[in-house]
Amino acid sequence: MRIAVIGAGLAGLVVARRLGDSGEVTVFEKSRGVGGRMATRYADDFEFDHGAQFFTARTPEFRAFLEPLINAGVVADWPARFVELSGSTVTASRQWGASHPHYVGVPRMNEVGKFLARGLEIRLKTAVSRIEKSAGGWQLLGTAGDDLGCFDWLVLATPAPQAAHLAADVPGFAAAACGQSSMRACFALLLGFDKPLDLGWQAALVRDADISWISVNSSKPGRTGLTALVVHSTNAWADAHLEEDTERLQQHLVDELGRVLGRDVSTATYCDLHRWRYANLDRTRGPEFFLERDSRLAACGDWYIRGRVEAAFTSAFELAGVFQEELAT
Ligand SMILES: Cc1cc2nc3c(=O)[nH]c(=O)nc-3n(C[C@H](O)[C@H](O)[C@H](O)COP(=O)(O)OP(=O)(O)OC[C@H]3O[C@@H](n4cnc5c(N)ncnc54)[C@H](O)[C@@H]3O)c2cc1C
Repeated sequence: MRIAVIGAGLAGLVVARRLGDSGEVTVFEKSRGVGGRMATRYADDFEFDHGAQFFTARTPEFRAFLEPLINAGVVADWPARFVELSGSTVTASRQWGASHPHYVGVPRMNEVGKFLARGLEIRLKTAVSRIEKSAGGWQLLGTAGDDLGCFDWLVLATPAPQAAHLAADVPGFAAAACGQSSMRACFALLLGFDKPLDLGWQAALVRDADISWISVNSSKPGRTGLTALVVHSTNAWADAHLEEDTERLQQHLVDELGRVLGRDVSTATYCDLHRWRYANLDRTRGPEFFLERDSRLAACGDWYIRGRVEAAFTSAFELAGVFQEELAT
């Protein structure tokens, strides 16, 4: 049984690993690396986890899944001092502890994907731009119309709008598989400093500002680089300014950060802005994945549940369980 998985984020990697015993799995990933939104940007002497910041594990399945990664030192608890800010005022403060771990990839967030990708057949820098159903199965085509192969089953593990676009010709798919999901944008402001910044905390949830999150990325376990801050805009602000001039947006977020921190951050020696068009989504209701036996098409991803790492895992894990039963019959 030949199975194609499109997308090597956490969801795609989890499905590919679980289905490896049931078929011949090939993963297609448009980027240079794996991990999707569990991403890390390298720049000069700085490293920034510019997508997912940390993740929690509430279900026994996700905890069991993480155990070997924790034992291998690829995932660790981030014991940050966490504050809540209303504008520039600290309204709450607590120490994150091992009783409710806030996990990160070590020594960077993209290490999780790299670990999970080991031993899988993954075709990087290969965007699938068309899928066509024929008598022989699912035909995949690349951006230049190149033949990427024909597969018995197809799993879409991309963000919802990309899955809907790929499967636009599959009757009913967009409504059945993507109907609930409305993904939100986010800008990540990345700032590097050649001297330590003493903020008194390492992670902050921000309210009443156009930024929603600040983390001292370099304080996460295993990081050796210089002081690096990751600052996320609110989804609402990003949605409203998505296509505007990058330089102006970056300056606005730098100013907003300066206002919230009550200090000049223009001393940063590195400054860049990353746009996440499909960053996140609110909790949705409905099935946790899509699987249609007749067309041999499946889909999974965080967007079935919520914009969280654990949600991506759960969607993929549950899909793979049902899929394994299907392949065994
Ligand atoms: C700014 C930001 C902050 C976040 N913060 C947190 C947080 O603190 N905690 C938390 O739990 N979660 C957080 N998240 C959400 C979390 O990152 C996601 O829920 C999770 O990583 C989604 O995994 P996924 O596999 O479903 O999708 P993705 O990681 O998006 O993977 C999809 C993959 O498909 C690939 N792809 C898309 N189209 C194609 C194509 N046509 N051909 C080939 N490949 C394709 C993409 O390149 C990508 O690698 C955050 C996300 C962002 C962006």
